[in-house]
Amino acid sequence: MPFLTPTFYKNRITDITLQDLESRGIRGLLLDVDNTLTTHGSQVLSDDVREWLDRMKAAGIRMTVVSNSWEWRVKPFAEKIGLRHTSLSCKPSPIGFWRGVRRLGLKKSECAAIGDQVFTDIIGANLYGITCVQVMPIEMETGKPFLALKRRIEKRIYEKRKGQDA
Ligand SMILES: [Mg+2]
Repeated sequence: MPFLTPTFYKNRITDITLQDLESRGIRGLLLDVDNTLTTHGSQVLSDDVREWLDRMKAAGIRMTVVSNSWEWRVKPFAEKIGLRHTSLSCKPSPIGFWRGVRRLGLKKSECAAIGDQVFTDIIGANLYGITCVQVMPIEMETGKPFLALKRRIEKRIYEKRKGQDA
């Protein structure tokens, strides 16, 4: 299922190393917010994520935020981490990624999308044809039945892939 599987998996965004990026020629990152950089709907920036962002910036990695969430949710967080952003990006439509790549001023082949959801981040990145990294959600959402269903399907895809890689 090539459209459902990322280029590679990491547990947390902070587990992505400069070497992971350099070995693939990646110089720019398109970052999801909810459950990738912080928990769902939160404005809290944890120390480890802040340090990871600083490390990437210091190494010259260009970054921008591409989120499906509302402007009022995305803008304050993007400002907090000093990055430009697209809200309501309609992932899995590739439009938000397209805009993000243009904003970074890099080639598509030099950019990677990072996100926690197969049905938005991973399919969108694959449709657009860029490298993508799937991270595990920081915290499972509660009270969202549709998202819970998507999480169950994601888990199956992940376990199937793990079985193939083993
Ligand atoms: Mg997300």
